[in-house]
Amino acid sequence: MNVCDLVRLCVPLQVPPPAVCALEPCETRNGAPILVGDQPRHITLRKDASGFCSLLIKGFGFVRCGVHALRPAICRIYPFSFERGATRYQMGMIGCPTLWLVDEPRRNAVLDDVESHEHDRVLDRKVVRRWNRLPREERTEAWFWVWALAQAGAEMGVDVSPFLEPKPRSRLKPALW
Ligand code: SF4
Repeated sequence: MNVCDLVRLCVPLQVPPPAVCALEPCETRNGAPILVGDQPRHITLRKDASGFCSLLIKGFGFVRCGVHALRPAICRIYPFSFERGATRYQMGMIGCPTLWLVDEPRRNAVLDDVESHEHDRVLDRKVVRRWNRLPREERTEAWFWVWALAQAGAEMGVDVSPFLEPKPRSRLKPALW
């Protein structure tokens, strides 16, 4: 996931990023890992106890994405994945058990999605580079979520300030934000 996905997902849902996302350890992140302290991380969707995306809705014999219109780019192009600005087949990369049709029209739709999200990826690299230049002691996981939303929101022209302002405790789960 990138920081633009984070804004598009969390701001409309009004959920704190750690409720639906995690910063998982990684070796590389298309060459631009997010440094938490000195540890390279990347943004992933939080998984439930079964290992599936926590945003998946299961029941009554079906599984559906619970945030279809807001799903991140990595989900929009699934079962393809980004690789150096292109796509390639990468089945089973994310914990989403929904069956996907892989044919030529689907592939073309995915390529359109990749193209339209290219500027997001440029913006993401810019924000992450800025983050990685912060002093090591400021690069904490808790601060990353707030900082990244504010920075990416400003770059995207999305007003995230009401979302970042303290809310009555009843509207937030305390340990998450
Ligand atoms: S498409 Fe699947 S993995 Fe992506 S947000 Fe929706 S439920 Fe989660």
